Amino acid sequence: MTRQIMLSTTLHELRSARLLLDGTVGLVPTMGFLHAGHISLVRRAREECQNVIVSIFVNPTQFGPNEDLSKYPRDLDRDLHLLEEAGADLVWTPTPEVVYPPGFQTWVEVQEMTRPLEGAQRPGHFRGVTTVVAKLFNAVQPTKAYFGQKDAQQTAVIQRMVRDLNFPIEIVVCPIVREPDGLAMSSRNVYLDTEQRKVATVLYRALSAAKEEFEKGGRDAEKLRRTMQEVIAREPLAQMQYVSCADYDTLRELDKVTGKTLLSMAVFIGKTRLIDNFVLE
Ligand code: AMP
Repeated sequence: MTRQIMLSTTLHELRSARLLLDGTVGLVPTMGFLHAGHISLVRRAREECQNVIVSIFVNPTQFGPNEDLSKYPRDLDRDLHLLEEAGADLVWTPTPEVVYPPGFQTWVEVQEMTRPLEGAQRPGHFRGVTTVVAKLFNAVQPTKAYFGQKDAQQTAVIQRMVRDLNFPIEIVVCPIVREPDGLAMSSRNVYLDTEQRKVATVLYRALSAAKEEFEKGGRDAEKLRRTMQEVIAREPLAQMQYVSCADYDTLRELDKVTGKTLLSMAVFIGKTRLIDNFVLE
């Protein structure tokens, strides 16, 4: 039986509803336009927590001036239907004014770990992410919060923030959910036309080629990066922004693969920027 889902918009509504909840609370922060990747997080929270709260907020401060904030896809009715089916109890959809009241000037910033990879390409992005996530944590006061491995650097940065600021919250990282052809699910995949959609598997193909090399004994990080670059270069419609073979914990680029390693990349397909990653253990 699906439960009745509750919807809150203001902070007061959220806090009032939160006060009535007994037991553990799982929070799933999202920007909406939900797909099976988001829903896998909600289901995991449902399994592990007595109450599940999902936030839907397209956070303006994590978008750069030339990014897709104004055209970011939205469909609240569809999202609510999917969340009800997945067993969420409460959905918080704050407006930008609720999250950033007039005169707002307080930011949360993780330093070193936000400099490479996504941080290097998207200045200010992680400051927006950590600030909004800290605000969500304060508002919801969850027991556990669920994030996807899809945004690998984001999960590392949030885990750092939680340790550094002593949030009493367990961060749960969930595996990447993919389409049958390997493309990582993303709200941004709707921007792709039919031809671009076929090309978009290049991220998965490039990561798979590097992983295969690793499994055959390849440990030279520069060679693994080159393998990924070569696969991407063979697709005229794909434009590589970066490929990386980095230490999983520090996110520093490696010379040799010795421990847990993050292979990651950002690739433009037309105007759509896609990211993906594999973890080598
Ligand atoms: P977003 O709405 O893009 O901000 O994503 C909300 C959460 O869903 C983040 O923790 C993402 O990492 C996670 N997520 C997005 N896509 C996927 C996916 N394909 N598989 C698993 N988690 C995902």
